[in-house]
Amino acid sequence: MIGFNKPYLTGKETQYITDAVASGKISGNGKYTQLCQNFFEEEYNFRKCLLTTSCTDALEMAAILIDIQPGDEVIMPSYTFVSTANAFVLRGAKIIFADSNSQNPNIDVSKLESLVTHKTKAIVPVHYAGIACDMDGIMDIANRHNLFVIEDAAQAIDSFYTSSDGVKKALGSIGHLAAFSFHETKNIISGEGGMLVINDKQFTNRAEIIWEKGTNRSAFFRGEVDKYGWVDVGSSFLPSEVIAAFLWAQIEQLKKIQEKRKAIWNQYYNGLKEAVVDLSFKLPEIPNYATNNAHMFYLVFESLGKRNECISRLKNKDIHAVFHYLSLHKSPYYKDKYKGEELIWSNHYSDKLLRLPFYYELSKEDIELIISTIKNE
Ligand SMILES: *Cc1c(COP(=O)(O)O)cnc(C)c1O
Repeated sequence: MIGFNKPYLTGKETQYITDAVASGKISGNGKYTQLCQNFFEEEYNFRKCLLTTSCTDALEMAAILIDIQPGDEVIMPSYTFVSTANAFVLRGAKIIFADSNSQNPNIDVSKLESLVTHKTKAIVPVHYAGIACDMDGIMDIANRHNLFVIEDAAQAIDSFYTSSDGVKKALGSIGHLAAFSFHETKNIISGEGGMLVINDKQFTNRAEIIWEKGTNRSAFFRGEVDKYGWVDVGSSFLPSEVIAAFLWAQIEQLKKIQEKRKAIWNQYYNGLKEAVVDLSFKLPEIPNYATNNAHMFYLVFESLGKRNECISRLKNKDIHAVFHYLSLHKSPYYKDKYKGEELIWSNHYSDKLLRLPFYYELSKEDIELIISTIKNE
């Protein structure tokens, strides 16, 4: 059986967890939390990082930080995970769903500005499969209309965008805020886990307070205040040192993990590129401004029928390939609230996109079998 995902363990996770437990400091914001946050800040030029218990939590923190009020509008793609929307819906926002573009499932920037109204507060681009959205276009619209940009970078660790002036920037370093996930399905993992990136310094102090249940405890531990107390709203967003210790073991192997994942991606791409015309599917297209972080390998079929036929063919050989998001504007929760036009590209990817098995330990032979099964050889 070839599953869709298999979490990869580097071997050091339990050692670091034991160390964290033995240190007597098991709650959050200790040694391993600092190690992880410092790594990301230095490696990717993120202004400030805070580990969270999930990407969902990081998005919820972002919604509090930009002070979403009932009735505020937030623009995001319909083709995304529920958390992208839920984080803002929880604070009363109205979600304005945008279509994907024809090249890939990322938000169609050419139609974005027509969705902006006087109630719009933020744009939440999602870097699908770790492939960058057109960030120059998004930041330009945001700057002209005074909007916040929150990158849903859940899938985008170690991926980059080159802006029109030639500067290469890590995804997650461009928007005012960004959210990453270390869920077991992502490139580096901690079971459940995430991170908020704060690039706009107006949010730094408040982010720490929201993170620590509405208290100024972080400042207290740094010796900046002589007692700590309730200073703002907040919640329990920070993970324990056990989670951070696990993540640190993964971070130490990030380069190796990324090399292996890129090799898997390339084997799929090279093995399938000749078959594209005969089998009527498309391979992922990576825009010139984007890099590939090998988060996912997907095919986009000509029709729902062709995709489902391929799923069954793989299933007959015990290979588990899966489709992905169902457009959120058509979801049971949102369909009656959605008043916009039909989002054809979002529906297109809901019906026709197929994700192939993708994990560190997937062998060359397994990939060959998957490719030949897809080609029906
Ligand atoms: C995985 C994912 C999330 C949620 O991440 P969690 O860490 O599970 O909360 C949000 N958005 C996107 C695009 C994702 O892929």
